[in-house]
Amino acid sequence: MGQEEIESYVKAGQIACKILRDSTKIVRPGAKVIEIAEQIEKRIAELGGEPAFPVNISINDVAAHYTPEAGDTLTVPEGAVVKIDIGVHVNGYIADTAITVTLDDRYNMLCEAAKTALEKAVEAANIGTKFSEVGHIVESVIKSYGFKPIYNLSGHSLDRFSIHAGEVIPNYRDRLVFGSFKPGRAYAIEPFATSGDGYVTESRKTLIYALRPNPKKLSKLGQELQTVFNTIYNDRKTLPFALRWYTNRFSLELLEKAVKAFVQSGLAIAYPVLVERGRGMVAQFEHTVLFTDRGEKIVTTSCSTEAA
Ligand code: MN
Ligand code: MN
Repeated sequence: MGQEEIESYVKAGQIACKILRDSTKIVRPGAKVIEIAEQIEKRIAELGGEPAFPVNISINDVAAHYTPEAGDTLTVPEGAVVKIDIGVHVNGYIADTAITVTLDDRYNMLCEAAKTALEKAVEAANIGTKFSEVGHIVESVIKSYGFKPIYNLSGHSLDRFSIHAGEVIPNYRDRLVFGSFKPGRAYAIEPFATSGDGYVTESRKTLIYALRPNPKKLSKLGQELQTVFNTIYNDRKTLPFALRWYTNRFSLELLEKAVKAFVQSGLAIAYPVLVERGRGMVAQFEHTVLFTDRGEKIVTTSCSTEAA
């Protein structure tokens, strides 16, 4: 892991951290979710990063993968639990980080459960620490507050231009996960706490997609759809995207038709909106942790020693 790579991760982390910290001020009842998302995405670019994925703003029992659609009229409800999950990349090196803002004191403990679980997990994560041990800590902390972790959501290793690089960091003591933290890699640790069942299910709505190139499959589609594919691929490669990013170039109708065709032919994957099965409230906190080849641990998304 070269110095340039480390610096890119750290820069991405500082951008992400700064934006999340400022975003707590714009999450207010009645605020338009699309305006919050666009403001955050604009800030990422202004600070010299690029979005690694569309900003996720998931409210109440929606656990993850909600990003506003073109013309979205959703506003932040009174008393909401709002998770803001952002990914920033610099030269492809990704900082993935999330916070939860609650507008009702009743949910303070739920937020604190997820936040404390993250702090303890990051503290325990060192080279050689088993992912299942970190999962055990997350689960124990969240349960000590009287809540459940979300069992079917997890942290993950990160790679250049790749958000889910193959390894899984569970949010419970998963005895089937044998991996451990290695030098020269980055990991996202992301506890979710809920007052519900502890499981998410896929809703019927998808707002985030990622392309999976395949020239043979692409050649079977019409010219118009190929143009849409190539435009998005030039911009995003295999990183996730939202259709609202491309409505200045294509009609929403064409974009919707295109992604449907891409998913059907295996040229894209869909990330459906994930909802807590028992309709419980959900809080999430996330940090990206980097282990250098020399064994140093860097929490790239931490603002505590923030300089930039
Ligand atoms: Mn995230
Ligand atoms: Mn993540």
